[in-house]
This record gives sequence, structure tokens and C-alpha cells, in this order.
Amino acid sequence: MMTFKTPIMVIGGGLTAEIMCVSLAYFGLEYSRLKPPSLAYKDARTTTINLASQKMLSHLNLWSYSAENSTKISDILVSQKSFGRDCYESRSYPYALNFSLNGQPMAWTVENTYLLESAQQKNEKSILPVYTYDGELHFNFGAEQVTITDDKGTTWQTELVIACDGANSPTRSASGLKSKSLAANQKAIIARVDLNQFHHNRAFQRFLPDGPIALMPIKQQEAALVWSITNKHADKLFELSDEAFQQQVINALGSGFDSLAINSKRAIWPLTPSISRSMGKTGLLLAGDSSHAIHPLAGMGFNLALGDIAVICDCLEIAKKRGLKFSHPSILLEYQARRRIEIEAILGVTQGLNRLFSYKSFHLKIIPSSLINFGLGVMDMLPIKKQLLNIATGGVLTSASLLSDES
Ligand SMILES: Cc1cc2nc3c(=O)[nH]c(=O)nc-3n(C[C@H](O)[C@H](O)[C@H](O)COP(=O)(O)OP(=O)(O)OC[C@H]3O[C@@H](n4cnc5c(N)ncnc54)[C@H](O)[C@@H]3O)c2cc1C
Repeated sequence: MMTFKTPIMVIGGGLTAEIMCVSLAYFGLEYSRLKPPSLAYKDARTTTINLASQKMLSHLNLWSYSAENSTKISDILVSQKSFGRDCYESRSYPYALNFSLNGQPMAWTVENTYLLESAQQKNEKSILPVYTYDGELHFNFGAEQVTITDDKGTTWQTELVIACDGANSPTRSASGLKSKSLAANQKAIIARVDLNQFHHNRAFQRFLPDGPIALMPIKQQEAALVWSITNKHADKLFELSDEAFQQQVINALGSGFDSLAINSKRAIWPLTPSISRSMGKTGLLLAGDSSHAIHPLAGMGFNLALGDIAVICDCLEIAKKRGLKFSHPSILLEYQARRRIEIEAILGVTQGLNRLFSYKSFHLKIIPSSLINFGLGVMDMLPIKKQLLNIATGGVLTSASLLSDES
């Protein structure tokens, strides 16, 4: 049987794995890639890319300002009340939180397939080896070396595995690392909508007792819908006819959206927020959803994955300069120290907001609706708003060369 050796092995087939590989190549670090046999599914989601992530993707030559590929978000209106017809114009909206950076873009909406394909095209040009495995992977974590074998007996030996294999990470399970599930009892229904009016680069989010519904701007008059809703209602909603579903979306958002038309197929995603107790062990680092899967309400999951990648690259570059093996324990220690605060802050905010405002999903109403109705309007005036905005733009609670202005 064949045995292959590599200093670093990246495992996974999603966005985190692709961009991890582009980034390692950018730093001139030698790696190999272990991919699952490719799945014939198209990811119809969009991702909100924050300021720090946009800098990182620019450094990696994966960023395009073209209107085809990215739509600027100038402000986000978050409300508990329905949106009226003035919601596109009015800057101050009663009972709402309005996040903006005074006209500067605060984020962009990007299609996942665009990001994935751009990274794949870059990786295809790389001369570094890519292996596809058969069946399951079996791991033996030694003090200085990890041995990986697939069901056909092909073997790989490496100093470091970087697991980018998603929220149900088989690599994390095989390593014995535990992940804490933060059940949301929700699924997200996604679709594209034609607003039939200009969105002026404004994003909208309304918190309903069953979960948040959000519209992220695309092009000039379109939006990406992400509706998180209690499991028992999500399936019923998903099964509705196109016409009935469209009416439910309008009812949920308010009269400001009564000319909206769904213009794509719907897709449904189970929401399974979770966090791994440790971000790795000797010979293993977890990145992206394999380390922390968060609720999409803040549009931060993939931004956190990019932060992981940026910090991992810094840690590996430092180790290489010091002549250390990539299995050296200092790498994991530094990675955890530089990532934990941002991850826990974002996880805390998303879980907290969801629990506070989508109380029906948790069978627990923490405060009365009369107070909840005032909640967001009051938050709009508090210093916490500025803190939330700072955290959401990225690069504040974490720093790395790929996230900086110059790299
Ligand atoms: C409804 C929804 C909306 C979201 N919106 C945002 C947002 O606006 N902003 C944001 O930052 N984050 C958002 N997220 C989170 C973001 O999508 C995830 O954090 C990100 O996709 C994690 O990537 P990953 O590679 O770590 O994991 P995954 O994408 O789960 O990939 C891991 C594994 O899944 C499989 N896989 C995935 N894609 C493929 C493929 N194309 N081909 C083959 N195998 C594949 C592979 O086995 C792969 O190893 C959202 C999540 C959901 C559910």
C-alpha cells in the first residue's frame, strides 16, 4: 500500500478548506490536501463578508468589487416590529437598531459559489498534492506524527492535521475532542428574492418569537433571504406552495416588502450551533465550523473561519522561522490564545440575542413582550451598540497579518 508524507495535511471540502489552502500557499508553507469524494450539491447561500475578511480576501487575490460578485452593505436595520413602507428611506426607525459606518461599507454580500469557485481555481493551479480518500479516515495521533489511513489502506503521515471538515467534523470525533452542542431548535430557510424596488444597500433583520428573518442586499433590487424558524414550523413552511411561502415572508417582514417576489428555489439548513472544548490537540488544529458553528443571525460564521485561517498561518510561519516542527505544542497554545476571545464573544452575542428575542424556540420567555418591544430601540442608544458594531466589523478582538491593511 502507498504511504505519502507531508508536513501539513488539510482535511475538508468546503469553504474553510479551500481558503486554508490558498492561505498556506500565500505564506509559502508546504501542505497536502485530503478531500472527500466531491458531492454534487450547489451551495445556494450567500455570505456576509465583514471589513477584516474583505482585507484578507483582497490579500489572497480572492476579492472582487464587481457588482456581479459582491454587494456593499451600507447599513443594517434590526427591528422587532414589522417594517413599514418607509423602511428603505428613514434613517432612524422606532424600536429599531440601525448599524452603519456613516456611509462607509460595513460589509458585503457574496455568493458562496463565487467564493468557493474562485478559491478552487487558485488551488487547481497549485503543484501541491491533493488526494481523494475512500470510505472513512482512521487516525493515529502520535507525539510527533499523525498517521491517517483510508478504507482502502492508503496511508498519509504528517506533523499536523488542519481539520476543516465542518460542524460534524469526523476528524474532531476521531481525535476524541468533545464539542458542546448549543441546540437552537431551529432551521434556516434560504431563498433569493426580487424586492422590486431599490434596497439602497440596506440589510434588514426582524426578530420574531420563532426566530430572526433577514434580507441581505444583492445587486440593486435583490436580496438573500435567511429565515431561521423553530423546527416544527420550518418544515411546514418549507413545504408550502411558492405563492403561499411568498405571502408568509411578506407577512413576517411587514408591508414595506409587499411587492417582494421569491425568484429562486428554496433550501433548508438545520441550525446546529456548537463549540469544541479545545481548538485542537498535539498534531491537530480545528478551523471553521469544525471548531465553532454559530447561528447565522449575525452573518459571522465564515468570518470567524477566516480569522482562524489567518491566525493559523501566522502561528505556522513563526514556528517555521524558529525551526519548530508543526506538531509543536506552542502552535496550539498560541492559536487558542489568539482566537478564543473573538469566538466566545460572537457565540455569546448570537446565542444571547436569539434566546432573548426568539423565545418561542427555547420554550422560555425571559422578559415580558412589552419590555422586549422596547429592547432594540433602547439598545440603539447604548454604548453596547458601538461595541457590537466594532466586533462585527472584525479584526478588533483578533489580529493577524492577513487581516491587517498591509500583509
Ligand atoms: C443558512 C446559513 C447562512 C449563513 N450565512 C452566513 C453569513 O452570512 N456570513 C458568514 O460569515 N457565515 C454564514 N454562515 C456560516 C457559514 O456558512 C459557515 O461558517 C461556513 O460555510 C463553514 O465552512 P466550513 O468549510 O468550515 O464547513 P462546511 O461548509 O460545512 O464544510 C465542511 C464539509 O462539508 C462538506 N462540503 C461542504 N461544501 C462542499 C462542497 N461544495 N463540495 C463537497 N463537499 C462539501 C465537506 O465534507 C466539507 O469537508 C451561514 C450558515 C448557514 C447555515
